[in-house]
Amino acid sequence: MAISRELIYLDYHSTTPVDTRVANAVFQAMITTFGNASSVEHEAGDCAESAVKQSAYYVSELIQAAPREVTFTSGTTESINIAIQGTVKHAQKSGVTPHIAISVIEHKAVLDTCYALKSQGQIKLTVLPVDNQAHVDLLELEQVCASGIHLLCVMAANNEVGTIYPIEKISAIAQNHNVPFLCDATQAVGKIPIRFRAWGITMLALSAHKFYGPKGIGALVVRKGYQLAPILYGGGQQKALRPGTLNVPGIVGLGEACRLRQIEMVEDERAIAAKRDRLQSKLLANIPGLIINGDTQNRLAGNLHISAPDIPNSAIIARVRHYLAISTGSACSSGVETPSHVLTAMRLKEEVIEGALRIGLGKFTTDEEIEAAAQILIAETRAIRKLLE
Ligand code: PLP
Repeated sequence: MAISRELIYLDYHSTTPVDTRVANAVFQAMITTFGNASSVEHEAGDCAESAVKQSAYYVSELIQAAPREVTFTSGTTESINIAIQGTVKHAQKSGVTPHIAISVIEHKAVLDTCYALKSQGQIKLTVLPVDNQAHVDLLELEQVCASGIHLLCVMAANNEVGTIYPIEKISAIAQNHNVPFLCDATQAVGKIPIRFRAWGITMLALSAHKFYGPKGIGALVVRKGYQLAPILYGGGQQKALRPGTLNVPGIVGLGEACRLRQIEMVEDERAIAAKRDRLQSKLLANIPGLIINGDTQNRLAGNLHISAPDIPNSAIIARVRHYLAISTGSACSSGVETPSHVLTAMRLKEEVIEGALRIGLGKFTTDEEIEAAAQILIAETRAIRKLLE
């Protein structure tokens, strides 16, 4: 089944359409660079290996790391598991039960990994709260780092309300206390500048499908010298940290997506923010009582998180789902009847949480789509309010 032509896609936090230039690079890699990147005995292997090296270079350029610090994975969920479980396994070799601190608004990939390790008695866990704009208190974060933890995990930008975190400052605090710092930069890479080396980040996770690349490919970037125990065993590829035959077409797609972001990010994000602001103004002017959630001064350009507190979000979704793709929360949790852990942690009122809608714009969003989406949301809100009268 293909997506209908009429569907306005505004769910870019969940995933992005693949850029045609990236799709072409993947296709070319599939048919011309089909060798196994570890087959060093012939030219087919050499070609695949050099394509992988080229992609590692593009990834490292975008986030200002070194190519040898890039390990390719199937995406952020795997990267995070390698980073957290690998840190824990390494610490356990010296008989230590590691203490990990995370923010409460991390993605489930971080939360559930840590909750599982905690319930198995493998780690001590501290969960940092947030304020009503999803900000972490840096003084509290510093105190936790000073208490002598083994790993700090804070995301670069939130996947629901789009709040951007001061990663440079957080990384400096972690460094001052010799705490390794894992940054889930899934929503930030290719949208805002990231300086892995200069900011002193220890590990960084990213997924290509959040910035116009293919799904199922990503990377864990690990600062040279940081020790991780592997959680998978196999053919020893990628310094045995992530063994398994390399997904060369996916890696080429990730590299091409990074190369394009490097060139086009600043201009694209400026245009996306202008469209988001236009949509926001139209909705605020025409939907009485509408609330914008999160930090409107410091959020991702493509993020618009709204609540009409008297209208359950499920009512809007049910009416628009065939022609407007928006969501009630993170992709992994949508469809699940539990309220968003991010909005709950922000202590928003119950009716604000129940009315919450996440709108995500991206580089392919057009002015016409913004206009049409505004009209749909305004009309449907009015219609539901009439029914509820
Ligand atoms: N972290 C954040 C902030 C995300 O937005 C996502 C995807 O929604 C993930 C982690 C998981 O990424 P993936 O599903 O590509 O492993």
